[in-house]
Amino acid sequence: MDLWVTFIGTAASVPTASRGTSATLVVRGGSRVLVDCGEGTQRQFLRSGLGLIDLDAILLTHLHGDHYLGLPGLLKTYALRGRTEPLAIVGPPGLAALLGALQAVVGRLPFPLDVEEAQPGLVLALDGASWEAFPTRHSVRSLGFALIEDPRPGMFDVAAARALGVSAGPLFGRLQHGETIRVGDAEVRPEQVLGPPRAGRSVVITGDTEPCEATIVAATGAELLVHEATFLDDERERARETRHSTAREAADVARSAGVQLLALTHLSSRFLPREIRKEAAAVFGETVVPRDFDQVEVPFAERGVPILHPGGVTRRGPAGVPQAAAGPGTVSPEPDL
Ligand SMILES: [Zn+2]
Ligand SMILES: [Zn+2]
Repeated sequence: MDLWVTFIGTAASVPTASRGTSATLVVRGGSRVLVDCGEGTQRQFLRSGLGLIDLDAILLTHLHGDHYLGLPGLLKTYALRGRTEPLAIVGPPGLAALLGALQAVVGRLPFPLDVEEAQPGLVLALDGASWEAFPTRHSVRSLGFALIEDPRPGMFDVAAARALGVSAGPLFGRLQHGETIRVGDAEVRPEQVLGPPRAGRSVVITGDTEPCEATIVAATGAELLVHEATFLDDERERARETRHSTAREAADVARSAGVQLLALTHLSSRFLPREIRKEAAAVFGETVVPRDFDQVEVPFAERGVPILHPGGVTRRGPAGVPQAAAGPGTVSPEPDL
């Protein structure tokens, strides 16, 4: 099952000419979840080439404007398009009051909003995976979110199955799904032909936060950690005052958690992305600093490591031809100014 993370907006606090405010899209199979919805997110979707995606859920890390001001426009457009499917909106306490206040702007919607003021723990279960919230440390109530896939069945040992008299076809599938089958007079149990269960993938997105233990716990062993890096380390004091992280601190978290790839977002226009990457990479080598519309592909462990695709691959390019993939750890070549 495909798992892609698309950076829809990567700027801190205010948009720049080349970066929108916070929004990160996670598409896994048929599920589409947006984490944060900064101002102009619907236009960023259009500019990304993905089109105005019908989301299943929007998870808000906290209720600062640069993380939710895109909601009214997006909801209004869904209404104009005649959406009828429910939309889940999850966020910290205060979310219901915020949406109540936005009602006057958005008007009546032809689809239900399932609003959940979340506590740490499970917030969404979608097709073999769950989204869990964990507490982060910011200047207001804040949550990070982790996509955690259920474990997968172990590798299927075809030779062992054949040796037990099972012929290829539907019986293989039934064994793989944990069913005991009969072959002639004999029983064949799944554990006779399956290896140990394989861990699912996990993607962790912090939103705005100081470095914190809860992120390390949530991200331990994750394929991808998307962490904010609003400052460089020589402004660590300022980071403490505003409850944000420096690039070095984000890298420390990634190293402690042992993630495969760290993607830094929530960038201030005062720093060059290459400076941010350099500082983080001195601590944690597998660090990328995506531009808007870059995508990270997260394959199953046996198929490789997460890869950053600058400019994206699943977006519709000219003639629908995907752009060439870049290697792991690739950094966007053009700095923002
Ligand atoms: Zn922010
Ligand atoms: Zn904030």
